[in-house]
Amino acid sequence: MTRLLVSTRNAHKISEIRQILGSGFEVFDLSLVPDMPDVEETGITFEDNAALKAVAASRLFDGWVVADDSGLEVDALDGAPGVISARYSGPGATDASNRALLLERLAAVRGKSRSARFRCVLSLAKSGTVLASFHGTVEGTIINSEKGSLGFGYDPLFVPEGHCETFAQLGAEVKNALSHRARALDSLKKWSGWQG
Ligand code: IMP
Repeated sequence: MTRLLVSTRNAHKISEIRQILGSGFEVFDLSLVPDMPDVEETGITFEDNAALKAVAASRLFDGWVVADDSGLEVDALDGAPGVISARYSGPGATDASNRALLLERLAAVRGKSRSARFRCVLSLAKSGTVLASFHGTVEGTIINSEKGSLGFGYDPLFVPEGHCETFAQLGAEVKNALSHRARALDSLKKWSGWQG
């Protein structure tokens, strides 16, 4: 059994990572590291921010640490919300307020392509050093109004390529088979020889 600390307080991410990695992994969250400070995401790329979060936790935890930095890139908005996906609508942002702002911004560029992708970068660290980074993307389309109640974040607006429903309608089993997070975790497992 491989023990892995995931450097996040996002319960949705932890739950997806546990489900994707399966029974060969014991996945812990930051409740195991009570001294972990809030890490300011000052990087300008997903990779920078994933590294910041992984390194900070790996200084306080003796073992493998993984951090996920992820977000949505919408082509008609020149890649926004991108690295600021979690705080797109400003201080006090919630998933709902971020989705509302996204629809508002897309209404202002009506007629442009609705193509988008989720991107995930995982940073693997140990003892304060990044060992490797892994990337995953899933292409799709942003629809005009929310559909579905499963998942989190922008899931109710995102229809993955090859499907007719949003991630929030398709549910965990389908999402976790093809998501940006699943693809990045797959690369991590292959790199390390870990079996899920
Ligand atoms: P992070 O915690 O800085 O990596 O921010 C991630 C943000 O990107 C989340 O708060 C969501 O807004 C968005 N996001 C990342 N992955 C997903 C996903 O799988 N579904 C929906 N939204 C996601």
